[in-house]
Amino acid sequence: MVKKNERALDPAFEKVGRVLSKGRVACLTGAGISCESGIPAFRGKGGLWETYSPEVYGNTPGLVSLLHRDPGKFVNFIREFYAVFLDARPNPAHLALSYLEKAGLVDTVITQNIDDLHQQSGVRSVIELHGNALRIRCQGCSETLKLEKDRVREMLKLFERKKTSSQQLLRVMSRYCPRCPKCGARFRIDIVLFGEMLPEDAMRRAYQAIDSCKTLLVVGSSLVMYPAASLPQYAKDKGATLVEINREPSAMSALCDHAIYGEAGKVLPELVKLLA
Ligand code: NAD
Repeated sequence: MVKKNERALDPAFEKVGRVLSKGRVACLTGAGISCESGIPAFRGKGGLWETYSPEVYGNTPGLVSLLHRDPGKFVNFIREFYAVFLDARPNPAHLALSYLEKAGLVDTVITQNIDDLHQQSGVRSVIELHGNALRIRCQGCSETLKLEKDRVREMLKLFERKKTSSQQLLRVMSRYCPRCPKCGARFRIDIVLFGEMLPEDAMRRAYQAIDSCKTLLVVGSSLVMYPAASLPQYAKDKGATLVEINREPSAMSALCDHAIYGEAGKVLPELVKLLA
């Protein structure tokens, strides 16, 4: 039920509230939902890729070559990359989605983010398409282990001390990304870099979540990164209602049945108020 009497309602809020109140909502989130937690989007002004070219820093061969060529620069990049994730806390947008899951309206959150903030906000059903910067994954058997924030801080301190030698940096790294006790292959940070495949299982579960949803709610994504950006079209083809909450229109706005343009940290809590 959407509450009517609280204040003069913006018609867009009322429409989206009605759609969400029917439940069976899958949510697809992107970097925009975490901006109000202090994690800037990578692209655009102030983003990571403005200072660090993704051709060098956004892929495994580029990073390995940088580590050997210029270990100091490699360490600076890793430190800046992790700085934002280590201090970030879930913001009102993450908490609103967690509330909607508890209320039985949102079934699953599919995220392109790697910041762990949906889990930290209490969402139980999270599908991570691009991995998680606070986890390591075995390159052999795909076993995963949590990488606690304190371990990352410790690793960064050691990196700083050893930043003149690539060999010493590799030794530090092997401590935090050890060999897998199950298969003997080495762990690595569990994020999908440019040119790498998305985890098959995550993509399969994302399609399943959309197969069983009535509504796909997209929050804070420009919808230009494939294959994640193919999910809204897939949802439409399956007959789902498509709703977008973003600061500005995205690449898929024309497909949307409803949209609210604004900060996710304000829009989602307003919607929760209507539904509570
Ligand atoms: P994107 O950077 O391409 O687009 C972000 C979108 O969010 C933009 O359209 C922007 O207008 C919107 N936005 C910004 N602030 C907002 C706010 N407060 N409320 C609502 N919308 C807001 O992000 P993307 O589509 O997710 O693709 C970028 C890729 O970069 C993803 O694959 C993701 O893995 C990665 N990334 C992740 C994080 C993270 O984990 N937090 C941060 C940066 C980038």
